[in-house]
Amino acid sequence: MKINPLLKRIIYLSWTIVVPAGLWFTYKTYPPHFSGNWPDLLAFFLLTLVVAAMPIVINNMFIFLIQWVALATFLKFGLFFEIIFAQFAVVVVLLRSHVYRREEFFRYPLNLNMFFAVSFFSGIIYYTLGGEVAPTLSGNLSAIWLAVVYSFANYGINQIIISLHLHFIYKTSFWGKDFFVETITTIITFPIGIVLYILYNQVGILALLFVGVPFISVSIIFNLYYSSQKINEYLQKAAEIGHQMAERLNENDVIHLFIQKLSDMLPVDYAYILESEGEEPRLLRRMENGTVLPNEMKSMKKTEGISGLVWQSGKAHLFNKKKEWKQYETGNIPSDAESILAVPIERSNKIIGVLILASNQKRAYEKYQLMILEILCSSFAVALENAKHYEQTKRQSERCPLTKLYNYRYFENVLVHEFDQLLHFKRQQLALIILDIDHFKTINDTYGHQSGNEILIELANRICKLVGDRGTVARYGGEEFVVLLPDLSKQEAFQLAELMRQSIGNWPFVLRQSLDQREHQVPITVSIGVAVAPEDAEDALALIRHADRALYVGAKRAGRNRVAEYSTC
Ligand code: GH3
Ligand code: MG
Ligand code: MG
Repeated sequence: MKINPLLKRIIYLSWTIVVPAGLWFTYKTYPPHFSGNWPDLLAFFLLTLVVAAMPIVINNMFIFLIQWVALATFLKFGLFFEIIFAQFAVVVVLLRSHVYRREEFFRYPLNLNMFFAVSFFSGIIYYTLGGEVAPTLSGNLSAIWLAVVYSFANYGINQIIISLHLHFIYKTSFWGKDFFVETITTIITFPIGIVLYILYNQVGILALLFVGVPFISVSIIFNLYYSSQKINEYLQKAAEIGHQMAERLNENDVIHLFIQKLSDMLPVDYAYILESEGEEPRLLRRMENGTVLPNEMKSMKKTEGISGLVWQSGKAHLFNKKKEWKQYETGNIPSDAESILAVPIERSNKIIGVLILASNQKRAYEKYQLMILEILCSSFAVALENAKHYEQTKRQSERCPLTKLYNYRYFENVLVHEFDQLLHFKRQQLALIILDIDHFKTINDTYGHQSGNEILIELANRICKLVGDRGTVARYGGEEFVVLLPDLSKQEAFQLAELMRQSIGNWPFVLRQSLDQREHQVPITVSIGVAVAPEDAEDALALIRHADRALYVGAKRAGRNRVAEYSTC
């Protein structure tokens, strides 16, 4: 959020004038009740700082319960000391709320001003109504009432100032969660403050222990309980994400889901997944400010950078600010990044990659998030491997291992699908070319089976080059090939077939693995049949049958090395 620089200057300046002046006025008008009892005053001061440093954290919101110490301080020592203590408490509160950044620095004088105003005006109200410094509360109902009035004045002025400041500085309204929390904490902490004051009058400084220790213990227990609950929640989420990743059968889907879920779960400005199986790490995914970017990176060695550190140590790393990781910088992470989580992606005790998450906030991540990430990374590694394996098996099951063309099983599915498109008028025509090598048996017999294979591979390449992405090429059987061409007219298909015949027949094939181990140039010819639906066939199988008939009757029987179409034979 951009704050007007002039406004910032006014905020700084007003603090240096208003607070000293207010303190001087308070000292003169409502002198503190202090008889030189420094140890007690110091004890109250320390308690203020400790309580300010131990907020309760709920849903990433810090709840500071310092009002009770402030109330007891005010009643015992008077407004002057309460103002001073509150000023120090504000600094501790802001430090605990992680306000470190330069552009946020004005929040210190801003909050100091606000707290001063709250302290000052509620104190004035208290004294104006007849409240005194160090009142006797036991048996004195009106003094207790005045303490209640003081607390609620404190609360009320605080609310008014917060809403004014949100309205004028941040242009937002405030009657939300914060308001509710403030109200509840005022009600809860008031009696604690009164108890501390009364007990202090009875037993002296020990009262601070009697009230302070249970209060701080409860805060700690609450925070422990809350963080364990949060870890549980994270674990549940991690398990769920693990399941979802396992269901994805495509590598890209797995990576996409993983990155997406991570940025939903954690504050992520930059995310990188590196594969570190080869000599140089390779980017699998790069996401910056919510956008997936091309997998480009400055080249670096496997041992370099933060990923190198993770790879070499085999351990996850958490950095709270840039200073901590600057020494590993390779220029691949944007320069405004501060916090970094870097976790190895392991499979069978081998590091196959590194995950790097970064935020441009300092201290954006917690230790336990590192642990959750380690669990997620191992699910990710398994899911990725499974998807890779699945894709590989799928590829193998639909391709011919020799020519790398699709096999007949795959082709048949495409054919049925395309025919369906035709029947639903999503296609105008569907052409099918079938091709058979002439006298291939002789080639095998003369040069050997290996040479026959060489020809099949080269022939497949020549056909694929000609077809491009216009259709699907498959190996139909032994030395027969099929090409399915959606939306190609009979004439176009015939021309293409003719081009194939020529590009095969006009350039001999080079054999390197013949029986006599010598290189041979062998001329090859092919016979081709063409049929087009809906003209020549009403269903998918008829289309193949008719193209096949064109091949055998129209081309082979007519003397080979020619193209024939179904309608003419
Ligand atoms: P035609 O002109 O009538 O088609 O004669 P042809 O010799 O090509 O026909 P035929 O069907 O008699 O023989 C096909 C040959 O293709 C038989 C077989 O040895 C060969 N063949 C089939 N599959 C492969 C293969 O994967 N590799 C090799 N090298 N040869 C194969
Ligand atoms: Mg043949
Ligand atoms: Mg044949």
